[in-house]
Amino acid sequence: MARVVRVAVPNPLRRWFEYLPPAGDPGTSRLRPGMRVKVPFGGSVRIGVVLETGAEPEIDPGKLRRVAECLDEEPSIPPPLLRLLTWAASYYHHPIGEVFRTALPAGLRRARREGPAARAWRLTESAATSGSLPRAPRQAALVAALENAAREGGEPWLDEARLASIPNWRPAMRALARKGWVEPLVVAPAQAAGGAAQLAAPNESQAQAIEAIASAAGTFQAFLLDGVTGSGKTEVYLTAIDRLVRDEGGQALVLVPEIGLTPQLVARFREALPFPVSVMHSGMAAGERLRSWEAARTGASRVVIGTRSAMFAPLARPALIVVDEEHDSSYKQQEGFRYSARDLALMRGSIERVPVVLGSATPSLESIHLVAAGRCRRLRLAERARGARMPRILLHDVRGQPLAAGLSERLLEAIDERLQRREQALLFVNRRGFAPVVLCHDCGEAIECRDCDSRLVLHRADRRLRCHHCGAERGIPVGCAACGSSELVSVGSGTQRLAEGLAERFPSARLLRVDRDSTRRRGSLDRIVRAAREGSADILVGTQMLAKGHDFPRVTLVGIVDADAGLLSPDFRAPERVAQLVTQVAGRAGRGTLAGEVIVQTRRPRHPLLIALASDGYPAFAAEALAEREEVRLPPFARLVLLRAEAPARATSAGFLATAREIAVELPRPGVEVMGPVPSPMERQGGRYRAQLLLRSASRSQLHAFLRPWVERIAAVRTPAGLRWSLDVDPIELG
Ligand code: ADP
Ligand code: ZN
Ligand code: ZN
Repeated sequence: MARVVRVAVPNPLRRWFEYLPPAGDPGTSRLRPGMRVKVPFGGSVRIGVVLETGAEPEIDPGKLRRVAECLDEEPSIPPPLLRLLTWAASYYHHPIGEVFRTALPAGLRRARREGPAARAWRLTESAATSGSLPRAPRQAALVAALENAAREGGEPWLDEARLASIPNWRPAMRALARKGWVEPLVVAPAQAAGGAAQLAAPNESQAQAIEAIASAAGTFQAFLLDGVTGSGKTEVYLTAIDRLVRDEGGQALVLVPEIGLTPQLVARFREALPFPVSVMHSGMAAGERLRSWEAARTGASRVVIGTRSAMFAPLARPALIVVDEEHDSSYKQQEGFRYSARDLALMRGSIERVPVVLGSATPSLESIHLVAAGRCRRLRLAERARGARMPRILLHDVRGQPLAAGLSERLLEAIDERLQRREQALLFVNRRGFAPVVLCHDCGEAIECRDCDSRLVLHRADRRLRCHHCGAERGIPVGCAACGSSELVSVGSGTQRLAEGLAERFPSARLLRVDRDSTRRRGSLDRIVRAAREGSADILVGTQMLAKGHDFPRVTLVGIVDADAGLLSPDFRAPERVAQLVTQVAGRAGRGTLAGEVIVQTRRPRHPLLIALASDGYPAFAAEALAEREEVRLPPFARLVLLRAEAPARATSAGFLATAREIAVELPRPGVEVMGPVPSPMERQGGRYRAQLLLRSASRSQLHAFLRPWVERIAAVRTPAGLRWSLDVDPIELG
């Protein structure tokens, strides 16, 4: 019986493909799972990943084609990562070839492994047993140098920088490599090796958390590090990493939100930990990314810090996974392969048998629920590490009050006080630009985007109107398109208008604006944050970019200009996001020795969730919000799947979803509710009509048992021209 190779080939079909082993390769193939192969596919050649070798064919082997070429010496994807990705393809019902393509760095999606040149060398195991080199003094000197490096307790290798002190080392090293005494490896650049970690002495609750994590070494255990802002979670990660990476000889994977991956954070890790730290994010150049990937795969880098996609970093000896700010929505990929890196972290931890630490000052309701269900252990840091007090949150009712550029008299006075005392104030608005809406004063008609159900935002600096959804822009019209009136007024408040209003009121105050417009240039957020910390601004005005991670010791007032927009959003997660944002922004206040105050302007001062948050803090809010979710059977008390469709014509997307619904109704679906189809909350975007069908079930297994045949049948439906559909398992936004 012929044995075949199963390969994940990038293409939209939800299955693997079978091939015969490469020509001239007998039954004992050198192919192993996780290796990249070139395979014929239709009329083209594609690069896939071997899932299985020596499988029984499902198709007549006489009809199968051969693997054209094996591209790897060693698997690009180590076995545990292969299991994770295979699991993810089935859990998210996404084409397996696309899942692997998403996971691989761009440099490995091409045939030529444009591998980074080796930058370091280490002794192999056979070197130790191979005797001496009396006739090759230069080789002997290299071996001695490598042995020394291993003995000194640092990294057991030498990089080119250190080898440079040995004259003519390259030919000698090549000779050793031919004998199998040394092997090349890729290391993260510019790394000090050895030495002691630079860590703060932990306080009592930090020490308890570190102990709990370290004692879970070598087993899967989920932890929720629930620590108020400024409680020293980062220090806990660092010490736990130091323990697990040093003592267990392992590697740590640290995920941070997109906005959290700043040069300061990376510098903090590099300065604190005496191990090679490498960085991985999607904005890196392909070569750089490939170097980090290889360094992780070979074990040369001991700590990998990255954003969402770093969840797919191959690790030679994983010891710990950390997800910082685990509630952050950037962990969910919102297009293509819609995975949640936070959820995958838990699955990866259980496959790799390592502890997983989810950290946050504002844990997701999912995580709080996991703790309640006994599947995650909560580690609490209730106090700020430097003893600073948590700020008070005041709900300020602005109904019927005069507002200047969106600011109430109460908030303006509070700002004035800070200016007098030479402290800083931070004002937070949801929206960049000048004003969210331009209205006709005579008929009330708003200027909307031609292609989206969305109003254009006025950006006054260049006098343009922009759509924040599709990016369309236009000049300010001379008159109202509906009634012809020339009286157009701008209402609402964006960062620009707020900054202008403040400049008028406090002409001598130094203002700093932080939003996507003001930080478009690379590294600019960093510069602004540094300027703010160094005290070269009195008032900071910003969007949520300012909410995370930054530490501004002189900020003692945080003003949240408008909490209502978030509360009124139709999305069931909106209140959770508002509460997280308010708490995170509030966490910027009073981090130094100065106490802080937070003023939240609202027209809904009796909103029960807002009251719980203001008077008893985030845990109280979370308890109430969870009770509400349970009552209405929403996550984490139910599982959701959203089928989205969009097309240039409304009828096309509606028709497709109606068919999907019919298929669902024909299938057995115990415990699964089918809701819709309905138009999406923003029905028109970029000129396309969007609609959705929602599935809900209390049981994950029942839901997935239904999904498999359903998705298969939907995928077989002949889709009309222009229609695009996608499946979102565990969506974080219902729009
Ligand atoms: P979080 O990540 O929880 O918001 P950080 O880890 O950024 O908090 O810590 C807040 C501040 O407290 C940082 O400046 C940090 O250096 C300091 N810090 C944390 N733990 C300690 C400690 N045990 N002793 C002294 N300072 C600490
Ligand atoms: Zn009008
Ligand atoms: Zn638009």
